[in-house]
Amino acid sequence: MADTYDLIVLGAGSGGLAASFRAARHGARVAMLDPGALGGTCVNVGCVPKKSLWFAAQIAHAMQLAGPYGFDGGTGVLDWERFRQRRLAYIDGIKQRYEERLAAAGVQWLREAGRFVAPDTIATESGAELRAPRIVIATGARPQSPPLPGFELGLLSDDMFTLRELPRRMAIVGGGYIAVEFAGLLRALGSEVTLHVRERLLRTFDAEMVSCLEEHMRTQGITLATGARIAGARREGDAIVLEDDACGAQGPYDAVLWALGRVPNTGRLDLDAAGVQRDDKGHVLTDAWQNTNVPGIAALGDVTGRLALTPVAVAAARRLADRWFGGMNEAKLDYDDVPSVVFAEPPLAAVGLTEAQARERFGDEAVRVYRSRFTPMQWALAGLHGQSVMKLVCVGVDERIAGVHVLGPGADEMLQGFAVAVKMGACKRDLEATVAIHPSSAEELVLMS
Ligand code: FAD
Ligand code: NDP
Repeated sequence: MADTYDLIVLGAGSGGLAASFRAARHGARVAMLDPGALGGTCVNVGCVPKKSLWFAAQIAHAMQLAGPYGFDGGTGVLDWERFRQRRLAYIDGIKQRYEERLAAAGVQWLREAGRFVAPDTIATESGAELRAPRIVIATGARPQSPPLPGFELGLLSDDMFTLRELPRRMAIVGGGYIAVEFAGLLRALGSEVTLHVRERLLRTFDAEMVSCLEEHMRTQGITLATGARIAGARREGDAIVLEDDACGAQGPYDAVLWALGRVPNTGRLDLDAAGVQRDDKGHVLTDAWQNTNVPGIAALGDVTGRLALTPVAVAAARRLADRWFGGMNEAKLDYDDVPSVVFAEPPLAAVGLTEAQARERFGDEAVRVYRSRFTPMQWALAGLHGQSVMKLVCVGVDERIAGVHVLGPGADEMLQGFAVAVKMGACKRDLEATVAIHPSSAEELVLMS
């Protein structure tokens, strides 16, 4: 006979954990399944190890300023393995705390994969059956692996966190978040980096901001190879060479990172046994309430193909659990104006519409753009000339702030508060009515005219 619960959660990543904790807090009996490590992508092979490396890269950048500021001594080289151990210990701590919290919340964690055998029944790999009137699919996504010849010679983002040393000559194929972030941090830590991009970097970001980021990347010595048509990879001695249909052989490189986007983890779920619909890429189709087409089955996070960000998965999960078990009948996530940061060097932060999106949606007449370009003080002091760039996209007669875009040191921490203002419907005059904090970079956002 099947064990019965109020809720079964498939996946213990950002979304699955959040759904389990919130539902348990409302008193639901929860079973959560995951054959992998607690915390899923974000904790193990995503945000957390990536941000750790980005912090190390920030220290490398700060050390470049040390000499010009008047500090004695060299610039220092990262002991890659020592740092890897420190990072792993930090991540182990996060997982340990999750495990303790799950036990305290009474969530039953089964360390195996689940698959549907009926709309209300999940079979485990070990042959058990679990039944619940409500099931959440939060099985995430994995790196895309197109069938290119020699693909196996390269690395996926997951592999970047198992490297035992920094690759000297690094090729990155792709132009999204992962490609840009790894390009910046590997370069800062000492790799020679070439980015092979088929058209443009960071397609969803404001084009003007991206072109300013490209200037920074070139200044740092990152080679941007745009118009690339990478058709495969081959070995040449100890090195790897990329075959580019547009530009011929590229390289040689010591390592190649394929950063070509991600595909949903739905293959092993046997969704047809429950009748759950997917799109042509395999993402589980959901409505505004995270509901699938099957009553009682919801999906959230990367598996749905909507904004693939940890806080989005967490917020969607909490709202869903509040609705299902907390009596909050209207709870659902609003996917508009979600802020996000590319942890590039320097970071690029954005919330709301790009200039092009605003012009398309509201017409040229209704859009007014404010910009500021300046050399941040910490760079100017060292005699550097790189520039921070800020951009406000305003619409309508009251100049409602439809988009805020920031590129420069501190952008990652700066944007959260401005995202609150955008969500509240702030107008340009509200920023002007706010007294600046001086000296800071953030003050530019309230001083633009
Ligand atoms: P996941 O975290 O992927 O969790 C899914 C879980 O489901 C996995 O643990 C998997 O083992 C499990 N699973 C799969 N199949 C089954 C099954 N059949 N049964 C049971 N369990 C199953 N986002 C940010 O907001 N900020 C960042 O800085 C950031 N950096 C990133 C850096 C990298 C390199 C990557 C790859 C991603 C990054 N992201 C970042 C994105 C973020 O990690 C994801 O959006 C987030 O982890 C999605 O959470 P999720 O719960 O949907 O899926
Ligand atoms: P993205 O969707 O950001 O980018 C994928 C890139 O791969 C694009 O540049 C795309 O080009 C390119 N691409 C896809 N297929 C091919 C191909 N066949 N040949 C050449 N190029 C190709 O994916 P990522 O894997 O970088 O990241 C996945 C998601 O994870 C992100 O979208 C983001 O939501 C999340 N993430 C968030 C981070 C953060 O918040 N800081 C950090 C890392 C990931 P094109 O644009 O031309 O289609």
